[in-house]
Amino acid sequence: IRVLGIETSCDETAASVVAWRERELPRILSNVVLSQLEEHAAFGGVVPEIAARAHVEALDGIIEAALDEAGVRLSDVDAIAATAGPGLIGGLLVGMMTAKAIAAASGKPLIPINHLEGHALSARLLDDVEFPYLMLLVSGGHTQILLVRGPGAYERWASTIDDAIGEAFDKTAKLLGLPYPGGPNVERVARTGDAFRFDFPHPLKGEARPDFSFSGLKTAVRQAATAIAPLRDQDVADIAASFQRAVVETLADRVARSLDRFHGEFPQAKCPTLIVAGGVAANGPIRAALLLLCERSGFAFVAPPPALCTDNAAMIAWAGIERMRAGLGEETDPMTMAPRSRWPLDANAVPLVGAGK
Ligand code: ATP
Ligand code: MG
Ligand code: FE
Repeated sequence: IRVLGIETSCDETAASVVAWRERELPRILSNVVLSQLEEHAAFGGVVPEIAARAHVEALDGIIEAALDEAGVRLSDVDAIAATAGPGLIGGLLVGMMTAKAIAAASGKPLIPINHLEGHALSARLLDDVEFPYLMLLVSGGHTQILLVRGPGAYERWASTIDDAIGEAFDKTAKLLGLPYPGGPNVERVARTGDAFRFDFPHPLKGEARPDFSFSGLKTAVRQAATAIAPLRDQDVADIAASFQRAVVETLADRVARSLDRFHGEFPQAKCPTLIVAGGVAANGPIRAALLLLCERSGFAFVAPPPALCTDNAAMIAWAGIERMRAGLGEETDPMTMAPRSRWPLDANAVPLVGAGK
């Protein structure tokens, strides 16, 4: 099976062709991603209107590039998989309209994909990870732990009660005068900082509920920064390092709850596995802490390479293939389906036909 994937839910315009054969690992024939970083950098964050326009301008060319690079024509693909939500509605509209047009013109089926399902199944692109497994999704818009039973079958075990983890990195960066996107810059300057100069809060740490919280941490960072302003370079590095330490320690504590629960619910699991996805998964100290936690808890830790962790269309094409394999490919009438800006993964069972919200 060959599937063309299209992703336009945020600030990446992406297209990819993925091929799969029975009893083989999938092959990513192409994976083209155009990031709009520069368009948004001046505003310190993603501007929805600019994003939608950039998708309109870029998408046709990106799809052509993905087909070219894969060495296939539209007539060679078996289906088109496109992100239908959640995300910024303008970009989703562009992606879905384009996908519908291609599907109608070529007579190929269209498979609407939940962006989060793309992240959830991305680990199986490179590894033979078996269901069920746990996924930690840590990105600019999401912080959650999902039990992945299979395509279309998810349970949310934990999520943030306020800010997303990537948002916390981005806001901390802004406060410290570091350029957008904040995460990589906080990680970079933190290397020369004293992680123990500030004792920032560890929201929800030690509590029985498995959820996350980051807004209190953000407030504490702001108070520390205002108290010692104007900030010298060393102050910036120390705050970044102390912030990152608090995030890492909190995250490990929170994730540990769900690993324990997994052991309790699946005592027979042969190889309990935690996979990680989302842009924040690129963070070195976070990866190291998760690896250590998994080793201690008897879990395998699978972290796809950054290019498959951040938004891309290979994971969308692959989710399309997984849905086809599971017989879920054509459960909906995709041509009447409207994109959804909000679409929790664990509500996948809700009928999609004609659903607007
Ligand atoms: P979503 O996928 O939830 O819709 P998104 O498109 O913002 O949201 P990604 O593109 O997966 O998510 O990730 C972007 C986020 O990852 C940003 O918040 C960015 O700061 C963060 N990030 C990227 N690299 C790092 C890093 N090395 N350390 C910490 N955070 C990082
Ligand atoms: Mg992004
Ligand atoms: Fe994403």
